[in-house]
Amino acid sequence: MAKPYPYFVSLDEARNICHKNRIPVSIEEVSIDNFLNRIVAENVIAKVNDPPFDNSAMDGFAVKFSDTKTTPATLKIVKMVAAGKNIPINLAPGQAVKIMTGAPIPNGADSIIPIEKCTIKEDLVILSERSKPHFIRKKGENFTKGSVLFKPGECLTAEKISLCASAGVSKIEVYKKLKIAIISTGDELKTPGDKLEYGEIYESNSYGISSLIELFGHKAIRFPNVIDNIEKLRETLNEAAEKCDLIITSGGVSMGDRDFVRKIMEEEGEIKLWRVKIRPGSPPIFGLWNNTPIFGLPGNPVSSHVVFHSLVSHWLSNLTKTKPKQYIIQAILSDNIKTVDGFTTFRRVELFYQDSILYAQLKGHQGSGNMAGMAMSDGLTILEPNSSGEKGSKCKILLL
Ligand code: AMP
Ligand code: MG
Repeated sequence: MAKPYPYFVSLDEARNICHKNRIPVSIEEVSIDNFLNRIVAENVIAKVNDPPFDNSAMDGFAVKFSDTKTTPATLKIVKMVAAGKNIPINLAPGQAVKIMTGAPIPNGADSIIPIEKCTIKEDLVILSERSKPHFIRKKGENFTKGSVLFKPGECLTAEKISLCASAGVSKIEVYKKLKIAIISTGDELKTPGDKLEYGEIYESNSYGISSLIELFGHKAIRFPNVIDNIEKLRETLNEAAEKCDLIITSGGVSMGDRDFVRKIMEEEGEIKLWRVKIRPGSPPIFGLWNNTPIFGLPGNPVSSHVVFHSLVSHWLSNLTKTKPKQYIIQAILSDNIKTVDGFTTFRRVELFYQDSILYAQLKGHQGSGNMAGMAMSDGLTILEPNSSGEKGSKCKILLL
């Protein structure tokens, strides 16, 4: 019987459906100590030139280039300048100023002779080599005051935070972290550290998925595991929808009798799509619970991560117009990888170089329940729906 919602769709179609169900993200100001992984919501403007003044790139002597054309040249040392607050000084022909890295260039100097190239005799410096007009870091060569350093959507990395600091930017308007409920479902789940009885396993998905959420600049709120019971699940989903902006569940979305997330969504929620043509990870559900978006990830640990990387991460990035925080490279397959027509195939691979060519080979047991191979692999293949997966062919790899 046809489903009253898109069923078993391609990955592209699934992403489009999810993107149509955006939620607004509000904005807050944060200070520089809390920039890491935050997503910029305004144009970030440099408050100063960098460098703010011409300065020396070396320890040495500031001189006039024209004074050093015939060597050896002997110049009179008239002053010393070090990095720090200074008053401007002038350099006349025949003079040299001893200068430290980062100190302002004296007026009239146009060259720095590195200290290694100089011989000092009392108040004279003898240069055995001609200077070159360099080793001067020019005012504004890095960036100029008023220039746009970042546009909205940029995710603040360590390098970008350093750039903000150099530009005098100590506060930025960023998108508020979404509060994302993480709910694992299943009678068999025990918390790591507790004693396992026969038939039980340690719950792992909520830890991995929460970590991914934090990496994407949002706040994960892990709810206690929910047993396979429709009332308990309803209660937890209601609470999550009230407290959080997005719900991510794991487990219970397949065809089994005890797949209660799928059941409750069919009966009481609003399903926007169910099942996606990806391997592994085909059972996910996406919809709304009390108007709050909900991604139902499969319980199998590898599948839950694959669905996060292929679907949830794209939805999150799209909300703030951020480049998906994913690094994709290309490698040559060194194994045949089985593909299924119409499906996108994500297999765990290890990368290696041979004769300067980057290869990807399957890593570990590829079962969708087995995290060991995933934890040790370098990436996931992104074999597009109609690719062959043949050994020797090119393949995109999503780096983990
Ligand atoms: P399900 O999707 O609920 O049928 O679960 C599929 C498989 O994933 C089963 O073997 C579960 O025991 C396992 N599983 C479900 N949830 C988790 C979880 N949170 N952590 C680790 N394994 C899980
Ligand atoms: Mg289950």
